[in-house]
Amino acid sequence: MWLFVAFWTGGAWVMYYVDAPTVVREFWTGQASGAVYAFTFLLIGTTYLLAGWAREQVCIYMCPWPRFQSAMLDENTYLVTYEAWRGEPRGKGAPERRAALGLGDCVDCQACVHVCPMGIDIRDGVQLECINCGLCIDACNHVMEKTGRPRWLITWDTLARQAARARGERLPLRLIRPRTLIYIAVLLTGAGVLSGGLYLRAHQGLSVAHDRAPLFVRLADGGLRNGYQVEIINKSLTPGVFTLRASGIPEARLVLSEISSKPVPEARIEVPRDAAVSLRVLVEGALDQVPGGRIPLVFTLHNEKTGETSRYQSVFMGPAAAAGKETR
Ligand code: SF4
Ligand code: SF4
Repeated sequence: MWLFVAFWTGGAWVMYYVDAPTVVREFWTGQASGAVYAFTFLLIGTTYLLAGWAREQVCIYMCPWPRFQSAMLDENTYLVTYEAWRGEPRGKGAPERRAALGLGDCVDCQACVHVCPMGIDIRDGVQLECINCGLCIDACNHVMEKTGRPRWLITWDTLARQAARARGERLPLRLIRPRTLIYIAVLLTGAGVLSGGLYLRAHQGLSVAHDRAPLFVRLADGGLRNGYQVEIINKSLTPGVFTLRASGIPEARLVLSEISSKPVPEARIEVPRDAAVSLRVLVEGALDQVPGGRIPLVFTLHNEKTGETSRYQSVFMGPAAAAGKETR
């Protein structure tokens, strides 16, 4: 069963990254890529090992959370606790025998231990492994109902209040303390930074790669031309209309060679929603040489609908010294 679960989850994870119906067919007919088989079996293996065998050992020894949690607790933290002051001394037996021996409310039935997903005994005190799921509380409440004793022998409370109860005193619950205020401030700061980042994130992307060969071409009118592969990403959920410009050289003009051979000062490009478009763009300029062989060229992408603007700094290349000679 665990192998089946591991296959189901591992396979589903791989299908997230590829076309699912296609990869299912290819997987069973032996036509899927090596990467699909490798990652599927890798995920099956790790899921089977970690979830099927290691189980709570992963939570205890591999997950960093218990260390954080134990560092964040203090005696006023509200968590799952055992009322040792009324449960002990524990012991089995009929009510009369228990009363005669002076036993506490815990009948040592081990129900709390059996239901614990971490396999711990909460009666030993607060432990690193406890995930505060509260299953032991429910189990013990059933036992208390059957034995006619008050519920909540295992309960939500603080260690300070439990110690006070053991002395016959009552302490108020202190939820607002410097520690909790600091935690709230840290959480709100983190949430604010994440929300701000989400709100301010760019809804478009622009990347440009300069052609490696030829680095530049001399035009018939004496100017220079460089070629680029431009990728425009529209991350919004509506189709985008963008204008693309280049600046940094005299009389910069663009040629979208796959659409038109006519040079234009700015190109208008439509990109479907949530999609990327890759274009070959030629940039022409009225210059016959380039200081140092390369100068900065800035591509500017402007979304006509939203007004959002992105820039990408690339380079424009040409002959460093002699002009009037075509160079590759
Ligand atoms: S709260 Fe959950 S993890 Fe903690 S002792 Fe009880 S059953 Fe175990
Ligand atoms: S379930 Fe309650 S009564 Fe039973 S062993 Fe645990 S604490 Fe004791």
